[in-house]
Amino acid sequence: MTETLTVRIRTLTPLWTGGIDGTMDRIHETGILGSLRWWYEAIVRGLGGYACDPTGDDRCPDRQGRYCDVCAVFGATGLQRAFRLEGPVWWNRERGSKLEIKMRNARDHRGWHLGRGFLGEATLQFVPLRLPEGWSWRKVWEMLSLTLSWIECWGGLGARTQQGYGVVEVEGLYPLNLDGGKPWPQQRRNRRDNIRHHPDRPSLDGFFSAKVRFSIGNQDPKKWLCERAANIFPDDELEWYFHQANSSQRSAVLPLASIVRFHLRNFARSNWDDQVRHRLLGEPGQKSLIHVSHAYPVNSNQWEFRIWGWIPASLPGGVLRSDVLTDLKQWLGVSPQRLWHSSRKDTLWQSLNITDFDLYWFE
Ligand SMILES: [Zn+2]
Repeated sequence: MTETLTVRIRTLTPLWTGGIDGTMDRIHETGILGSLRWWYEAIVRGLGGYACDPTGDDRCPDRQGRYCDVCAVFGATGLQRAFRLEGPVWWNRERGSKLEIKMRNARDHRGWHLGRGFLGEATLQFVPLRLPEGWSWRKVWEMLSLTLSWIECWGGLGARTQQGYGVVEVEGLYPLNLDGGKPWPQQRRNRRDNIRHHPDRPSLDGFFSAKVRFSIGNQDPKKWLCERAANIFPDDELEWYFHQANSSQRSAVLPLASIVRFHLRNFARSNWDDQVRHRLLGEPGQKSLIHVSHAYPVNSNQWEFRIWGWIPASLPGGVLRSDVLTDLKQWLGVSPQRLWHSSRKDTLWQSLNITDFDLYWFE
């Protein structure tokens, strides 16, 4: 077997990897690696492994020069990452282009500015650099495959997944072979096994994801979208989202995320106090914990989008994760009785005027 993992991704919503001056000039591998590490951390914590807080004072190595289960693969000070990532060579010829979405025509309403990301197919190659102690390459690729398949099913890849970007399909993954044990080595000399729980770092515990499929009937999707905002411009840029010239490489995107976020913010204002709202939906300098994707076609008459995130067990003011999830489920019309059409007046569906939808909630 080859020691390189090669996967093919196909974007369902634009991929954003960061770049320069707030635009994306090319595909930056660092943006993909940062996202993979974030997910890998969440998986390791969720499966009972040890993961340090790479942003805090608990980062690896510890005083004995030991590394956690995440740094063993993704590297840290004094320890090279296990692999290098080679992305495709692609230059963004329209890196200054952006789509502006305004929900109100007031002068003080800034609206959203969506920069041009990457849409299409791309090959990602993971090239071995350093085999972590106790691992085989097959195990390393299995864990990366698990991470990528979680991203494919429930989340997003790269940056700005809060704002619609990063839904991908992935091909070429390894199936996970658990052998009845944990998916990574439990015994290695330099393993940190003394890490306290980090309540402010992501874990698959406390993770939720909602996938929504809806139909807009025979309406033109561009017109449908524009009817749900005050202003969406320029038209060329909106056209790019729906453009399907190479339909085998990319499909249309319905850039719905900002509109959903607008309604989510309204819902949050009437249900959560400022501190909780800022923690969940972000504020300057703090990213949103709740991610909303744009919509992408799943069959000839349905679009799909996702809302997902990791919610800490407790929030300011004694608000619990379970309270937040209950509120979100009400807003989305999820109920234990599977009564999709809630009578509440402030559900997302009433705000969007969507009547025909299916929703799958996972937590
Ligand atoms: Zn670590």
